[in-house]
Amino acid sequence: LGLAACGNDATTPGTETSTGATNGGGSGAGGKVGVSMPTQTSERWIADGDAVKSQLEEAGFEVDLQFANDDIPTQSQQVDQMITQGVKVLIIAAIDGTALAPQLDAAAAAGIKVISYDRLIRDSENVDFYVSFDNFKVGVAQGQSLIDGLAERFSSENPANIELFAGSLDDNNAHFFFNGAMSVLQPKIDSGEFVVPSGQTTIEQATILRWQQEAAQKRMEDLLTANYGDKKLHGALSAYDGLSRGIITALENNGYSGETFPIVTGQDAEIASVKLINDGIQYSTIFKDTRLLAEQAVKAAVALLEGNEPEANDTETYDNGVKVVPSYLLDVTTVTKDNVTEALVDTGYWTQEQVDSGV
Ligand code: BGC
Repeated sequence: LGLAACGNDATTPGTETSTGATNGGGSGAGGKVGVSMPTQTSERWIADGDAVKSQLEEAGFEVDLQFANDDIPTQSQQVDQMITQGVKVLIIAAIDGTALAPQLDAAAAAGIKVISYDRLIRDSENVDFYVSFDNFKVGVAQGQSLIDGLAERFSSENPANIELFAGSLDDNNAHFFFNGAMSVLQPKIDSGEFVVPSGQTTIEQATILRWQQEAAQKRMEDLLTANYGDKKLHGALSAYDGLSRGIITALENNGYSGETFPIVTGQDAEIASVKLINDGIQYSTIFKDTRLLAEQAVKAAVALLEGNEPEANDTETYDNGVKVVPSYLLDVTTVTKDNVTEALVDTGYWTQEQVDSGV
């Protein structure tokens, strides 16, 4: 099985969109834009970076794209440098949503506009716009998919044994995903339909720092050792495909296989997970079309540079602790074995060959 972690050479999905950039052919407002992405260890951020860069260039901007290796000081330094270089707009997906306040103060002082990309930057006045997906809905979709999978595969198990894996606590999104999922799972736990044998039901207990695959594998192994001597696991809520693959490896190492393999959810439609879904091993993922997110970021950058308010479709949800940041939120698609082709191949995100090979 292709369960390896994705390295820097990670396969990335198609970056072309049918609609393309807002302001094509070099007629954009011009100038330099700084794009700061958290890490290259997960495909989605490479795809996001590539898509934002190419669409900005098409719109006539020069682009400084940097990845920060999931290291907070590295990201701070990279953003400092972008400011020194005189970028006009910063597009930032933060590693730690609260760590960039000094950079944002400097940006505001220099008249640089800031777009928070996918992850909300917290505790700062100086965030002009937020582009993301509906993160609560992502969580609901993950929880619902766990419920659906359990009903499909383990309808005779009552109660069903589940464990919960959340993302990194310093990522604002992790809280939205977990709360969304628990909004549908908690009633089933309360009614006794689902049981969490480890008793670890808070996000603080379920979190995996920096979303690391190896840490998820280790936690799953520890949970199995401590709580499943005489029980079987039926499902795991997983907030992200990297975590899902760690969980799956732990389960396989513990002898789980075949028809009674636990239901494992995910997020991001990473190619290694898409293959596992196609092969009937991972149950689901939540597909977020990063090409469309990049397009919204570019639209927002152009609007801000022209002195306009970017178009928002949500002005209530994303309070960053200082202000409610106007947002544009995109929809997501749950992908299971049943709609891999329709959702991911027909849309040009992955080719059939990639789905089959997992790379
Ligand atoms: C993103 C997810 C991603 C996770 C780990 C979150 O902020 O919204 O799409 O799975 O980070 O990279």
